[in-house]
Amino acid sequence: MSPRIVRTVAELRAELAPHRADGIGFVPTMGALHEGHLALLRAARDENGTVVLSIFVNPTQFGEAADLEAYPRTEDRDVALAAEAGADVVFAPSVEEMYPAGFATTVSVGGAVAETLEGALRGRSHFDGVATVVAKLLLAVQPDRAYFGAKDAQQVVVVRRMVEDLGIPVEIVARPTSRDADGLARSSRNTRLSDAERELAAALPRSLRAAQDAFADGVRDPRRLAGAVRDELAAAGLEPEYVEIVDAGSLEPIAEVVRPALLALAVRVGPVRLIDNVVLVPGVDDRIPLTPVERSHR
Ligand code: AMP
Repeated sequence: MSPRIVRTVAELRAELAPHRADGIGFVPTMGALHEGHLALLRAARDENGTVVLSIFVNPTQFGEAADLEAYPRTEDRDVALAAEAGADVVFAPSVEEMYPAGFATTVSVGGAVAETLEGALRGRSHFDGVATVVAKLLLAVQPDRAYFGAKDAQQVVVVRRMVEDLGIPVEIVARPTSRDADGLARSSRNTRLSDAERELAAALPRSLRAAQDAFADGVRDPRRLAGAVRDELAAAGLEPEYVEIVDAGSLEPIAEVVRPALLALAVRVGPVRLIDNVVLVPGVDDRIPLTPVERSHR
């Protein structure tokens, strides 16, 4: 069945009111849906009576006007895909509905969780924008569970911190990164890559896999593990904006990987800034599968 499309918080509340008892699952997105988003919707479908998808390209989390402008917008296709994945309600508000004239509040998560990695590169305003819009969306939907992708690992940490600090009554569920066959993390921005750039982008998962291989061989020094990533990227002619290994919970720097560590990177490929990550867990072998074609490049 086609989901109901609502544009205002008032309509959304009215639509959800009769369904609260059976549990509400919520998947916030910026649209241009791909298999990663659909996997989140299916997880929400499995665990809740009613599933809400939001589609909102949030201007306040974009640093570059050109990136915001170029962000793909494909609402009709998104609604059809969301229907197949089991969404009951699509909340697609306008910018004015989310930020009416006079809007003046910012939710700002402090400390390393928001200031390292993407926070350091994109500036404070990025996670302020994310935290503020996610807080507003959670208050609009009031879901029992909200689903986020591990591809944006730092976002999950920031959102969990905010939900705990503000006492928002919701369970934050993180789901694994969905990848193409060559390992590239699915992203709405991938559609902006040319064929040649798309091929080049396969170096990202290859580089993370190189670090996972070294980790499986017993390397625990973050510098050596990051070096394995940089070497693989350099072989493809790519220079990362950052490659960092931090504690997976606090996102603080570490001297040795003795607890779960987040290995995260950002790389510009053509017009697009791509991010990806893996978690290195001592004693756990969970390497990114790469297709034979991609592995023969190594
Ligand atoms: P976005 O529309 O890119 O803001 O993403 C909306 C949600 O989908 C976020 O929780 C993302 O982390 C998640 N997501 C995006 N890409 C992937 C992916 N490849 N695998 C899993 N989740 C993803």
